[in-house]
Amino acid sequence: MDLAPVTAPATASSLLVDSYGRTIRDLRVSITDRCNYKCVYCRTGAVGAQYPELGNAEYLRLIRQFVALGITKVRLTGGEPLLRAGLLELVRELAQLRTLEGQPLDLALTTNGHLLAELAAPLKQAGLNRVTVSMDAVEAETFERITRVPGSFAAVLGGIRAALAAGLTPLKVNCVLLRGFNDAQIEPFVHFGSREGVVVRFIEFMPLDESRLWTPQMVVPLREVVERIHRTLPLEELAPREPGETARRYALPGGGEIGIVAPVSQAFCGACSRIRLTSDGKIRTCLFSQIEHDLYGRMRAGATDEELRGYIRGTAEKKEPRHRIGEPDFLAPTRSMVHIGG
Ligand code: SAM
Repeated sequence: MDLAPVTAPATASSLLVDSYGRTIRDLRVSITDRCNYKCVYCRTGAVGAQYPELGNAEYLRLIRQFVALGITKVRLTGGEPLLRAGLLELVRELAQLRTLEGQPLDLALTTNGHLLAELAAPLKQAGLNRVTVSMDAVEAETFERITRVPGSFAAVLGGIRAALAAGLTPLKVNCVLLRGFNDAQIEPFVHFGSREGVVVRFIEFMPLDESRLWTPQMVVPLREVVERIHRTLPLEELAPREPGETARRYALPGGGEIGIVAPVSQAFCGACSRIRLTSDGKIRTCLFSQIEHDLYGRMRAGATDEELRGYIRGTAEKKEPRHRIGEPDFLAPTRSMVHIGG
């Protein structure tokens, strides 16, 4: 396969820009919708993978088209991306690509961390820059009640430590907060972050669960998280947010920081720079898109690289202005988070 770096001068006309003037620089690719956890707020526990996976060469060809259109950051996700056969080869190939500016991609991966202890060092060697680990409690019993996998807490903790040792940093640990379920973990999580040397980020729960149990009352909003931590640890907001940055960042006394991602209470759609590719090769221009765009179908039908890029460009233009959570006409998407790629 020809994997020559994609390099060309970056010009405004070669970038992906939507009809609201937002430049798309960040691609999230789901490489499987299989997952070895059944987190209670994400999956029903009764439904497995629902969508096909592409081959590595197919993902690569599609990703190269995005990179040729100005994408600088690629995040592999799922499902659980560490379950994917051939992951190291895929990362190795992606690490060879160059942005329009001639730089290596910012190459990241989001994982539940269960298999990370073994894979962290090989992933780093393959060219991965960073990982984000999802972890919704710092107490083993609560954590395993969430994941429904015995022994998961020790495995993920081992994964986080291995990733730090391998240099997959800065390492972010994402915690989705659900009221009355794991919100007692907020303060212990802040201490966990300082102790382990990771950036903890609290995420507001979004209506993307397989069970469709989401209600606004379940969301623990940013303001409440800040107020709670501030009672014992004065927080100072780090401003301004970088373009496309989803988290509001706060400095902790004595060093370190936490982040809060608040898509529900303080949506950041106006600065969104993301586009998604599902495991079966569909483009989603928003987590909450009602429509998917069959890029893989075009490729299967024999489209040239130029035609694929034209299709991506036309699709990106149609990116939704905002997600509409909380509006009367909000409709949850047909795919839930695990099948889209978080
Ligand atoms: N398996 C990987 C992992 O655990 O990080 C990647 C996929 S997972 C779907 C990606 C992220 O989405 C996880 O951090 C998970 O907690 C988060 N997530 C799942 N459902 C969510 C929801 N309804 N609202 C907010 N975040 C959600």
